Amino acid sequence: MLGKDYEGQDCALARALEVVGERWTLLILRDALYGVRRFSDFRAHLDIPKAILSARLNGLVDGGVLERLPDPEHGGRHLYQLTEAGKDLWPAVHALMVWGDRYRESSCRVFQHAACGTPLDDRGTCPRCKVAPGPDGVLAVPLRQTSRDDPVARALRQPHRLLDPVPGS
Ligand SMILES: [Zn+2]
Repeated sequence: MLGKDYEGQDCALARALEVVGERWTLLILRDALYGVRRFSDFRAHLDIPKAILSARLNGLVDGGVLERLPDPEHGGRHLYQLTEAGKDLWPAVHALMVWGDRYRESSCRVFQHAACGTPLDDRGTCPRCKVAPGPDGVLAVPLRQTSRDDPVARALRQPHRLLDPVPGS
């Protein structure tokens, strides 16, 4: 099995990739930033095999990016919530979205500064207010409808503030 550590690399990027560098991890992180918190919702939105989703969520909890809490509405189940370290990955996720939009496929959403409605620039800064809001100050606004039809995708068809729970749970 391919390991996920880069022991020979004395570099902070290698340390970060040991936490977020595996397949699916950044998409799970994106969904957590959108406000997805339940195993069943990650699964519905990502079409990811259960065992892999479970392993990735455990890895993100062990890496200090997600926190596992009891789900008050479903006994025996859990909610996954971003820690402060997890929320601090928003600029990295945003930068990769900007890159993907520029070099691969145009983005299906725009991110706005929630306080004023101005689209963020490529660095995640509001050009009007001259601040780079954290994810709780960012609104994701759809530009076009995607073909996905699951509870998370349906919730994201409306403008949605990052970190607000979807699909409304
Ligand atoms: Zn602004």
